[in-house]
Amino acid sequence: MLLSAPAFALALGFATLLRPMTDANRSSEPSTRAQILSDPLSGREVIFAPARTKRPGNHEALREPAAADEAENCPFCEGREQETPPELFALGTEKGRAPDTPGWKVRVVPNLYPAFERQQVVVHTPTHTRSLADLSDEQLVLIAASWAEAAERAWAQGFDHLLAVINEGVAAGASRPHSHSQLVWLDRLPPEVAAEAPRLRRDGCALCALLHDLDPALKLAERKLGDSTVSLAVAATGRAPYELLVAPDDHQPDAFGSGELLAAALALAAEGVRRLNAVEGASPFNLWLHNFQADGHWHLELVPRLNTYAAIELGGGVFINTLLPEEAAARLREASL
Ligand SMILES: [Zn+2]
Ligand SMILES: [Zn+2]
Ligand SMILES: [Zn+2]
Repeated sequence: MLLSAPAFALALGFATLLRPMTDANRSSEPSTRAQILSDPLSGREVIFAPARTKRPGNHEALREPAAADEAENCPFCEGREQETPPELFALGTEKGRAPDTPGWKVRVVPNLYPAFERQQVVVHTPTHTRSLADLSDEQLVLIAASWAEAAERAWAQGFDHLLAVINEGVAAGASRPHSHSQLVWLDRLPPEVAAEAPRLRRDGCALCALLHDLDPALKLAERKLGDSTVSLAVAATGRAPYELLVAPDDHQPDAFGSGELLAAALALAAEGVRRLNAVEGASPFNLWLHNFQADGHWHLELVPRLNTYAAIELGGGVFINTLLPEEAAARLREASL
């Protein structure tokens, strides 16, 4: 059901900010001024404008089906190690294995077409697997360990930040269908992380507050490890339908320093993708880690790419989300896995 703007604002739990229609010059314009929300982590502006259609995107946006010869020509599959640049390191290797030969579980190689001084590809699995959603927990532990290993090497060489990202699907910018992540070594904080940093310091951390006050309707799952809990939730002020947030509930700056928590977070993100795929079909997405070596609160953000960003988003910096977070969470929770 499409709520009227005032009912929508109240449904969101906000006082309506609709402008009273007292100005005669404006009376001919429809009074659908929606609430502009500010994302507490980034300050990004988001407007929820539920679409009339049930689907948030269109089916052209779904992931491309596998080509018949895809696995046969895949340079990331085990046995084709010679088709990538020489590996930097591998994890889960068989005893006595030589570099760039079979017998590995996760393999890290330089990016063939780097945009940055250092940019690496983490091949997530030796067998042809198209999604994070299809990886085992054991494999995700090794992937988290490979990110941590790369971070240690980056810090040792004087780099300040490691941007870890996963693109899945052509619509999300993935160049290869075999599940992989990319690690970008940076000598500064990238702008999105720098924008969040002052909001996520221990004193007055916006993410601690968000998780403490999280609407239970938005939470999808959690994993406990010792005294820590990692949560998967629909982002209350997401820029895209079904945008997800994964984070430890307690204040933790550095994900690479707590590999078990990072592995748990990746497992929760994988669950989020399985739920998303069950509701919408195989969906392209971007996922990234926002990490803070000193003070800050690390988290994963997962943005499904079922919609297209247009001029209001790119030119105005205001994101229009056509699916209410409560509705997204209800659909994802009810998905049968
Ligand atoms: Zn492959
Ligand atoms: Zn915090
Ligand atoms: Zn973030």
